[in-house]
Amino acid sequence: LEEIDAARGAFERHRWQAGPITAEDAPAGAEEVVPNPARPRDEVGTITWATPETVAAAARAARPWDADPAERSAVLNRIADLYEENYGELFAILHREAGKSLLDAVAEIREAVDFLRYYGARTEGDPAVGVFACISPWNFPLAIFTGQIAAALAAGNAVLSKPAEQTPLIAHRAVQLMHEAGVPRTALQLVPGAGEVGAALTSTPEVGGVAFTGSTETAQIIHRSMAENLDPGAPLIAETGGLNAMIVDSTALPEQAVAAIVESAFQSAGQRCSALRCLYVQEDIAESFTEMLTGAMDAMRIGRPWDVSTDVGPVIDAEAKADIDAYIAEADGEGRVLKTCDTPDAGHFVAPTLIRVTGIGELEREVFGPVLHLATFKADGIDRAIDAINAKGYGLTFGLQTRIDDRVQHVSDRIRVGNVYVNRNQIGAIVGSQPFGGEGLSGTGPKAGGPDYVERFRAHPADH
Ligand code: ADP
Repeated sequence: LEEIDAARGAFERHRWQAGPITAEDAPAGAEEVVPNPARPRDEVGTITWATPETVAAAARAARPWDADPAERSAVLNRIADLYEENYGELFAILHREAGKSLLDAVAEIREAVDFLRYYGARTEGDPAVGVFACISPWNFPLAIFTGQIAAALAAGNAVLSKPAEQTPLIAHRAVQLMHEAGVPRTALQLVPGAGEVGAALTSTPEVGGVAFTGSTETAQIIHRSMAENLDPGAPLIAETGGLNAMIVDSTALPEQAVAAIVESAFQSAGQRCSALRCLYVQEDIAESFTEMLTGAMDAMRIGRPWDVSTDVGPVIDAEAKADIDAYIAEADGEGRVLKTCDTPDAGHFVAPTLIRVTGIGELEREVFGPVLHLATFKADGIDRAIDAINAKGYGLTFGLQTRIDDRVQHVSDRIRVGNVYVNRNQIGAIVGSQPFGGEGLSGTGPKAGGPDYVERFRAHPADH
């Protein structure tokens, strides 16, 4: 904590300046201020955007990284060392630019370092695809950003990287450290921008593959763009959304289940693709259980992400807040809000809210915030609940709270998701031992942080 306090002090008023990082001079676009989601008047830095012309110039300058595997491995590990040495600054940017709570920011830097070392140990193999576009989201603006790039570089690709428009500063600092560690500029270029820059990337003929994490809708747009503009064999590695459920039966330990639910649904203000969206509680215990759950929601602290005691920080921006608030207001108008919480006035805070539904079928889309839906199931209705969850077509995370041993196997066999979590929270993954990724509308696989992931960034002779 002392170290983090020192970092916070040192970087409290710092203003980062970021923009495209290209191998050769390239045209750039407009400049904008990057705000802090928790404090409207705090200017975290400025960003000069890339444009489709920047992308074209970067694509022309891109060259696969031809260093031998041992050298690539050494450089990836050196990046991990530099992340650790610059921990305080990375923490401060995550905190101010993305509104990350203390624990979330610390865990994120750890995960990024783990990705670098894990993929850094897997640099041997078939040749690179060539040029990879890596398009990343704002919710893990360092970990996912780094993971995609590290895997692509481990295989020897050239990378054109586009961070989410909400979080360009952390991306810029990360790429500076990657170059400092020894990645050539021709092998890694940064093109910060919004959808039009992403669209330019996925239609640039030099691009041989795309790694994407974000919404299912955008993944579908990218898929179409690649089919029209890129080589027919160009791989798309996509990690997308979820409508994740948890089942709590009448044998579950209620305290354990409530703690797991609160974390899974509300930590990171619900802005995780793994977050719990729809809770199924067995009818017999529903009343007492809901009372415990709403009690726990009362005890949650919503506010400044820099306080150790804060459970729920801000959502990413004004647009996200408006979208989630409107969703809650509509449910409220229909009399379906069971519980909501107080929030600070300034900053993009959204009240953690519990909404009654009859089943997951009622959910029209993934609402990316601290909103949890509650349904019940009858003692003999667990299979019907699972079938309803499967029928939504997503397949990312699933949680089960039970002390019936047979049920764990039965439910795990029937549910179609990438990651099943039993008697614990359903967020979090461990690079190496617990890789993460979904199926169906939730992603193409293979799982990030798993042994097969880097393979997708290589050209396998069998593919041709
Ligand atoms: P979110 O809802 O998490 O913001 P998006 O799918 O919109 O999800 O964003 C994920 C990433 O995809 C971001 O970097 C975003 O800029 C990028 N993106 C958005 N639209 C497109 C597009 N048409 N083509 C390529 N990338 C895009």
